[in-house]
Amino acid sequence: MLPKATARCLVQRAFSSFSNATEMGLSEQHTAFQSMVREFAQEELRPIADELDSKKKFPREQVKKMGQLGLMGVEINKDLGGAGLDGLSYTIAMEEISRACGGTGTIMTAHNSIFMGPINKFGTDQQKKKILPNFVTGERVGCFMLSEPGNGSDAGAASTLAVYKDDHYKITGTKAWITNSWESSGGSLFATTDRKAKHKGISCFYIPFPSDGLSLGNKESKMGIRCTSTANVIFDDCQIPSENLIGESGQGFKIAMQILDAGRIPIAAQGVGIAADALQRALDYVMKKPVISQNDEELLAEMEVMVTTARLLTYRAARMKDEGKPIGKIAAMAKLYGSEVATSVSHKAIQLMGEDGLIKGGGVERNYRDARITEIYEGTSEIQKVVIAGHMKKEYRNKYTNGQ
Ligand SMILES: Cc1cc2nc3c(=O)[nH]c(=O)nc-3n(C[C@H](O)[C@H](O)[C@H](O)COP(=O)(O)OP(=O)(O)OC[C@H]3O[C@@H](n4cnc5c(N)ncnc54)[C@H](O)[C@@H]3O)c2cc1C
Repeated sequence: MLPKATARCLVQRAFSSFSNATEMGLSEQHTAFQSMVREFAQEELRPIADELDSKKKFPREQVKKMGQLGLMGVEINKDLGGAGLDGLSYTIAMEEISRACGGTGTIMTAHNSIFMGPINKFGTDQQKKKILPNFVTGERVGCFMLSEPGNGSDAGAASTLAVYKDDHYKITGTKAWITNSWESSGGSLFATTDRKAKHKGISCFYIPFPSDGLSLGNKESKMGIRCTSTANVIFDDCQIPSENLIGESGQGFKIAMQILDAGRIPIAAQGVGIAADALQRALDYVMKKPVISQNDEELLAEMEVMVTTARLLTYRAARMKDEGKPIGKIAAMAKLYGSEVATSVSHKAIQLMGEDGLIKGGGVERNYRDARITEIYEGTSEIQKVVIAGHMKKEYRNKYTNGQ
């Protein structure tokens, strides 16, 4: 790890070229929060990100520290031990953490948005008090179990069954690609309670880890975000009490869709963070060259416009969420653009740096690999386009044809 003074100097230098607090119109409070997260991320996460990636190592100590900083319960109320902050703060934090380490960004968002989100938004007061305080300190993480082998995009086709008997549910089936699964102490599960009702027969449950009848598959070997575990979670007559039902029976698909809508904003921020780091590395590289070519300048300018535009769109989405406005369309737009920018900017950074960009441990190569997943999870880019076009058609009909 870098000495503190050197690291702080690097942090200041790194952001002198695109400090975004003013251009993004952040309040004093948001700016102070951004500085706090940035300092932690740049000092304690960025220096070890390549090692976490190459060793596929979960950043346990850093996640604990993130808990102490309020980053493992950003939007959870203070009376439950959370930081009680707004969606814009969460977005800012996701950008800063992902800028330092894309994989740690994934751990944070899987835990905050999609594991705790269903319980925080749809759980009873009693469920929230019982579950959430255990998960805000960084000592424990959680996971979100929706996808199954063969039905990632088609979440309504859940074949995992939860059968009610004697005040319990017995769960059988396999959930696939579950982030944080190996480190989880709990998870939000979506399983079918009424097969005939199709997606209206899906329900949401809180599952404590470990549980009898619950086992984990092998960790997937992934292209990027390699410090996260991704594995099947297998339920074989796993019995949980009926009090673990989150929301009403049959409400699970609606819960999942609402949680995924909101969860797209932090993924957009993850894309912005990964792209911003790639851009910074490319800028550092160019500024050390004896001669800066026109091609260097053009690539840098293109990257700067893309990162800033993606950030503006992402912050706009977060602000709309905080204002209680509908976010389905803007969140999908931010996610679509933020993830494409992550891939494109890290690609351009490698192009600009040539062979230096391809070297393992150089950061940009990892950025490129970490970026790719942001176009897949929480809805692929194609699904975001389906969502956006759906909103456009609805808006058109409402405006020009009286909703017909
Ligand atoms: C690293 C990683 C971590 C993950 N973490 C989690 C997790 O924690 N929890 C969880 O539940 N899931 C998780 N997932 C699963 C993820 O959400 C799915 O991979 C994603 O939804 C896509 O599903 P799929 O892979 O089955 O692709 P498919 O749905 O099979 O899609 C394949 C292709 O077809 C396209 N396509 C599919 N349907 C349509 C359509 N209607 N219109 C246009 N194009 C379409 C897709 O866009 C894609 O290009 C994770 C996945 C990965 C890779």
